[in-house]
Amino acid sequence: MSANIIDGKQIAKQVREKVKSGIEYRLEQGLRAPGLAVVLIGNDPASEVYVNHKRRACKEVGIESTAYDLPVDTSQEKLLELVDELNKAAHIDGILVQLPLPDHLDANLILERIRPDKDVDGFHPFNLGKLAQRMPVLRPCTPKGVITLLESTGVPLRGKDAIMVGASNIVGRPMSLELLLAGVTVTTTHRFTQNLADKVSRADIVVVGVGIPGLVKGEWIKEGAIVIDVGINRLENGKLVGDVEYDVAAERASWITPVPGGVGPMTVATLMENTLYAANELHRD
Ligand code: NAD
Repeated sequence: MSANIIDGKQIAKQVREKVKSGIEYRLEQGLRAPGLAVVLIGNDPASEVYVNHKRRACKEVGIESTAYDLPVDTSQEKLLELVDELNKAAHIDGILVQLPLPDHLDANLILERIRPDKDVDGFHPFNLGKLAQRMPVLRPCTPKGVITLLESTGVPLRGKDAIMVGASNIVGRPMSLELLLAGVTVTTTHRFTQNLADKVSRADIVVVGVGIPGLVKGEWIKEGAIVIDVGINRLENGKLVGDVEYDVAAERASWITPVPGGVGPMTVATLMENTLYAANELHRD
């Protein structure tokens, strides 16, 4: 078998087009454009790249993005003050604080300060709790984007067996909750998991987000499984690869995401969706 490629770039473009029409509709109704505050502390090159993608996407769909580029030595107090100010600002529907933060800042404290109805990244405990209780409000961007990719295959998800490889707060844990919400039976694995190969080989859906190139071997993949690779790793030769041994996995899977061009573009497109959702559903002013 040779897998169908799940074209994240194309699907993300469709999502952005839908958001763009949603915003045009708002403007026709005399409503303001949704507003997103993008906060970047310091000048980590990878974070700068991600933030630029997000700002570019805002421009494309018609979201008013406001840049807050602060120096690397910004104090916790100053950053909390900024979050408080943005929480109160009526034209701001979403607040995004780009991670990772410099070591002297407490990311949890800052993310929890963002008002849950402006938490367009979906990282606030309120939003994770609502997802866990099957009443999602603002859903974490990468996992929600993966669900959009899975749905794009047309394969019914309910009742399938999935494995989530990785259990971080921003990928593995919320992804497991999203899969559960979709009626999938999920096994969540992490650095202490034993017999990973055996568990992967039984799954109909394999989602991997660890950050180790080639961790999941192609031969572990069950014939016909769907493989979603969230990992992004830059090799010494500059090449970007995921966490799955792609070539061999693609011979066994029915559907697979490439890296790059799979999950990455979906994270940004879902952020646009969440910002419009916050403006339409949570801030009717
Ligand atoms: P993280 O380091 O916070 O978490 C890694 C997780 O992998 C941990 O839960 C750990 O227990 C688990 N793990 C480590 N070794 C393992 C093993 N041998 N078997 C099973 N699990 C193991 O990383 P993260 O922030 O979740 O990111 C993971 C990857 O996803 C990275 O490559 C990151 O760049 C990528 N990522 C991509 C996007 C995107 O938009 N495509 C978004 C976020 C993260």
